[in-house]
Amino acid sequence: MQKKDFLYEGKAKIIYRTDDPVHVLVEFKDDATAFDGVKKDRLEDKGVLNNRLSAHFFSLLEQHGINTHYIKTISDREMLVKSLEIIPVEVIVRNIAAGSLSKRLGIPEKTELKKTVLEFSLKDDELHDPMINHYHIYAMDLAKPEEMAEMERVALKVNEILVPYLKDKNIVLVDFKLEFGRHNGEIVLGDEISPDTCRFWDSSSGEKMDKDRFRRDMGGVVEAYREVLRRLEGGENPAVEGES
Ligand code: 5GP
Repeated sequence: MQKKDFLYEGKAKIIYRTDDPVHVLVEFKDDATAFDGVKKDRLEDKGVLNNRLSAHFFSLLEQHGINTHYIKTISDREMLVKSLEIIPVEVIVRNIAAGSLSKRLGIPEKTELKKTVLEFSLKDDELHDPMINHYHIYAMDLAKPEEMAEMERVALKVNEILVPYLKDKNIVLVDFKLEFGRHNGEIVLGDEISPDTCRFWDSSSGEKMDKDRFRRDMGGVVEAYREVLRRLEGGENPAVEGES
């Protein structure tokens, strides 16, 4: 596999073409952004940690029969993935009220939801990723009904797999965001699964172990991501390449 020209740069990742047209290379950056890019910083090693955390989650989900874009890890910051035609709909799964749900509906943070909530947002920073429903999705021809059904099925299955898996590591999966794309006529789980895209709370202390630490200027962001990785990998202190 040969890394070729640059294809696209997002807020946290860069995508490169490879010599194989059906595969692309994802490079995880150390850049951290919040509030649609208004708040920015560089957090050393965040890219390395998110590459490893995403690889861990994708591999786990593949073992449970979920079709993900992940193929293999190439380096400390790079993974090889299937090239997807991205569906510009963010799928959000919620177990506990937090963030925009609490703000929008006045449900106090930490309230356990009686039923898992699925939400959809249009992936558009300029519009601040507005929440949309099935009618908008079909009216804008973003996805077909059968594709939505598959995305919803997979999102709920991912939740069913990750909640007990993380509980066992003393982590509460509060909520998370998924993105999907099309590959060879199939719906495939793409993007990343990391503390940038999930809310993780320590089961004992309730302490935040995710991007909310950055959003809310709490400090200790990279340390929290490293602790999530340590719990997933079961080691003492996960070595991060390039770290002295
Ligand atoms: P909220 O809607 O409460 O801000 O986010 C719900 C969950 O989805 C959180 O875990 C959050 O990290 C994730 N999420 C929603 N939208 C985005 C987004 O545009 N970027 C990232 N990185 N995560 C998002």
